[in-house]
Amino acid sequence: MAKKGHYSLMIHGGAGTLDRVKEPETAARYLQSIRRILEHGRAVLELGGSALQTVETCASLLEDDPLFNAGCGSVLNEFGKVEMDAAIMDGRDLSAGAVAAVQNIANPIQLARQVMAKSEHVMLIAEGAMRFADRCGIERQPDNYFYTPDRVAQLEQARQKHRIMLDHDANDADGETEKYGTIGAVARDREGNLAAATSTGGMVNKRMGRVGDSPILGAGVYADNETCAVSATGYGEDFMRTLIGKTISDFMLMKAMDGTQATAAGIDYLKRKVQGRGGVIVVDKNGQCSRGLTSKKMIHGWIEMCGESMAGYY
Ligand code: ASP
Repeated sequence: MAKKGHYSLMIHGGAGTLDRVKEPETAARYLQSIRRILEHGRAVLELGGSALQTVETCASLLEDDPLFNAGCGSVLNEFGKVEMDAAIMDGRDLSAGAVAAVQNIANPIQLARQVMAKSEHVMLIAEGAMRFADRCGIERQPDNYFYTPDRVAQLEQARQKHRIMLDHDANDADGETEKYGTIGAVARDREGNLAAATSTGGMVNKRMGRVGDSPILGAGVYADNETCAVSATGYGEDFMRTLIGKTISDFMLMKAMDGTQATAAGIDYLKRKVQGRGGVIVVDKNGQCSRGLTSKKMIHGWIEMCGESMAGYY
C-alpha cells in the first residue's frame, strides 16, 4: 500500500527487441534518454506537480527525442508522410483529450491536452485538429522537422517487403523485432491522482488515415483513480480489439485484483483473444508499477514509490 505522499512514474519507448550485441551504442542511447526523462518526471512530482502535468512533460520530452516513434521521430506512412496520434487522460474525473492523424505538430501530446482543456470534445482529427492547434497558438513545424534519413530508409524497406510494420519491426535472425517506437507515460502523484499519456507516429507504411490504439481511450491509454493508469505499445489493431487499457482497469475494479495481477490477466486476455503483440506499462492506485508484454522486450523505466530510477529493455 502506498504511503500518503508517495509518487510513482513509468515511461516506455516502445515494445520489441533491440539487438544489444549488434547495436550496443544505440541501446545505450535509448536507455540514457529513458533515464534522463524519468529524472525530469521525478523533478515535477517532487515539487508537488500533478500526475497529469508529469505525464505531459515526460511524453513531450520523448516526442522531442528523434530516437522514438513520436513527435519529431515519427515513422512515415504509405505516402512518406508523418501522421501522428496522441492522447492524455486524467484519472481524477476521466477527463481526456486526443488527436489523430495530425501533421506538422511537434508535440501532439500538448495538442491533446489542449483538446481536453479548451474544447468541449474528447478527440479531434486531421485538418480539424490542426486548425484547433492554430487557434491555440501551437505553431506548425515544416515537414523537414520530422524527416530523418533513418525513417526514409525504413519506409523503403517496408515498401520493398510490401508490409506495414511497427517501428521496431526489422526482423532479426529468430524472426523477432528490433528497434523501439511509440512512447507513453503513466504516473501517480503525491495526492494519489493517476494520469496516462501515449503518443505515436503509428506504423511504418501504414495507410493514410489509419488511426491506431494510442489515441483511443481504453485501448492505448487509460487512467482512473479508482484503479490504474495504462499506456500501451505494439500492434494497435490488437489493442483496439481488446481495449487493453480498460480491460486491465476492469480487472482491478471488478475482480479486486492489484495492478500486477490485473496486468498479467490483461496480457493473458490479449494473447488468448487476438494473439496480440506488444506491451503495457501500468501504475496502480497504490503506486505499484507493473509491466506486461507479449513481444520479447519493451524499453521502459520506472520510479516506484519515490524509489530509485530503473531503466531497461526486458
Ligand atoms: N501502437 C502503435 C500503433 O499501432 C504503434 C507502436 O506502439 O509502436 O499505432
